[in-house]
Amino acid sequence: MTHDHAGAKEILQSGHPVLHKKAAPVPVQDIRSPKIQEVIKNMIATLESQADGVGLAAPQIGIPLRIFIVAGFVFDRMKKTTGSPHEIYINPVITKESKEKKWLDGEGCLSVRWLYGKVYRSTRVTLEAYDYQGNLRSRGAAGLLAHIFQHEVDHLNGILFTDKAKDLQEFDPEEIKEEIAKRKDGHFNTPRFEISESQSDKPDSGLVQIDLSDNEIDSDPEN
Ligand SMILES: [Zn+2]
Repeated sequence: MTHDHAGAKEILQSGHPVLHKKAAPVPVQDIRSPKIQEVIKNMIATLESQADGVGLAAPQIGIPLRIFIVAGFVFDRMKKTTGSPHEIYINPVITKESKEKKWLDGEGCLSVRWLYGKVYRSTRVTLEAYDYQGNLRSRGAAGLLAHIFQHEVDHLNGILFTDKAKDLQEFDPEEIKEEIAKRKDGHFNTPRFEISESQSDKPDSGLVQIDLSDNEIDSDPEN
């Protein structure tokens, strides 16, 4: 793929100090400023430069601010639509999380190439955040989106998934790129960060495929 990704920045890798520090909130009155809008543009270009990127946090491009984005195709996948815009979350706070947690398999990170592992996370969360225009919004998420929200908020607190993962495995990037290229739906997340999970309470159940369409993404988690 030889897309032009003007504005794309280098993605910092684990070990860089910015990735391991808590990021600062964006003053709300600055959200619409050219400076913050430029940061958002650069984040989008950077995410789009990565075939397997589902989300990106500002510290990953060296900006220590509480901003993350989620790729539009994640929403397309959930809503069975096309052309959903990327979503921008500024000063995000997880206001509710389900007591139900699962070891979700195959989590990876653009800043931890090319490791994948299992992470114990809530299956549903509610996130409150400002959008790119400075409007405060709240949304519930389940499945992959809940997973991404928790991964990205962790980034803003200086936590990488490898700080809490188990069964970490390293994969050959060429193999992953080939698998992504083969997929009919073009660029989705890595095959490892496919929407599958192993249920820790049922050790013999193996991998369970979650159909995102069964998850009501806009409703609140139960608790
Ligand atoms: Zn990450």
